[in-house]
Amino acid sequence: MKIIQNGTLVTPEGEKKASLAIDNGKIVKIGNITPGSDDEVFDASGCLVFPGFIDGHTHLDLPVGGNVTADDFESGTRAAAAGGTTTVVDFATQYKGDTLINALNTWKKKAEGKAHVNYAFHMAICDWNERTKKDIKALRDAGVSSIKVYMAYDTALTDSEILGVLEAVKPFGCIVGCHCENGDVINMRQKQLVESGRTGTDAHPLAHPAEAEAEAVSRFCYLGKLSGCPINIVHLSTALGLEEVRKAKSQGVQVFVESCPQYMILDDSKYELSDFEGAKYVCSPPLRKAKDIYALREAVVNGEIDTIATDHCSFRFDTQKTLGRDNFTKIPNGCPGIEHRPVIMRHIFGDHLSASDYCRLMSENPARVFGMYPRKGALLEGSDADITIWDPDIKWTISAKDMEQNVDYTPFEGMDVKGRPRLVLVNGETAAENGKACDSHYGEYISR
Ligand code: MN
Ligand code: MN
Repeated sequence: MKIIQNGTLVTPEGEKKASLAIDNGKIVKIGNITPGSDDEVFDASGCLVFPGFIDGHTHLDLPVGGNVTADDFESGTRAAAAGGTTTVVDFATQYKGDTLINALNTWKKKAEGKAHVNYAFHMAICDWNERTKKDIKALRDAGVSSIKVYMAYDTALTDSEILGVLEAVKPFGCIVGCHCENGDVINMRQKQLVESGRTGTDAHPLAHPAEAEAEAVSRFCYLGKLSGCPINIVHLSTALGLEEVRKAKSQGVQVFVESCPQYMILDDSKYELSDFEGAKYVCSPPLRKAKDIYALREAVVNGEIDTIATDHCSFRFDTQKTLGRDNFTKIPNGCPGIEHRPVIMRHIFGDHLSASDYCRLMSENPARVFGMYPRKGALLEGSDADITIWDPDIKWTISAKDMEQNVDYTPFEGMDVKGRPRLVLVNGETAAENGKACDSHYGEYISR
């Protein structure tokens, strides 16, 4: 057995000083444990022991318009492990003409044998038709319990298609997440801006007004209400959108909310940086205003945000982001973050979030919302031994020079932070030590 001693365990009942024993990839005992001579003992003195963190929104090995993200399942999950994340939920995308099962198998193959952490897939439905509808049962049988739809981009569905998806997947107990931005509004604004000569990165936030997010959040919540299917607002970024969520909740809509660290620490002044540096921060939705940052932080502390994910979607600055040097609409959208989410959240909130609250946002709630609890997201006897032993006192500086993400920058460059995982276990095996990933691949596909 492996035994973790002297740490403070963050359990569903609160923090407690106890030992934890692991056997065969599972937590087998929590309490007073006397190690035997064959046991491997890890001393977690001074550390918080969390159920491994779950990132419910990543894009690894994703092709976008002739480009592929800089991180695949090898480097992306390696970076995840280094930062303390033990499970990612990525997106399998059904393109036009494709079937759901083929899409799922395509993404499973991308990850197989390469994953340092466990992985599951949401299914992004982009071609809603009778065949797709018929395949929902097979998709559910293949372990997928969460669906994604888009209201923008060439992957967008119409409102009636989205309602069709919601009504079709509800009987299977699925949750449907949505990229809530009004695609028509964004396309119109982009065209207007480029035609008037506004081609720089400072035009990017203007093409994605807060109203376009709030309108889409409102519309999706009403579609959720009509269908009775639970819904998830992904990457909420504005105070205006948050108001719409509150309205929907007051009407009894079963709506969950995800936000991301970048929307709670960086603002849209980044898009005004010279030398095309603003491109590093081009993501959708874009970084917002200070008032949005504070509204989201307050919502996190009040428990109105259920999960924190990254929307990790990395493109190199030197060869990929540059595709949009003359036209901001051609910049591949997305930022890296899979490695730094846990420490950035500690950095933003410090003691304003208790260890239990932090655990709920980073681990327990993603496991619950995405159908993995209590196998994941909890330190309980019988749960998988995905464990992050967090040393809260280590001080270090975030830098692209010293990270596992396979990309040439990080939006959090130069931030002085505190805390780092001392040990990260995936299925009971060591996946990272002292912020550095190990070479073995212990990650497995999680059927939900
Ligand atoms: Mn999105
Ligand atoms: Mn995304």
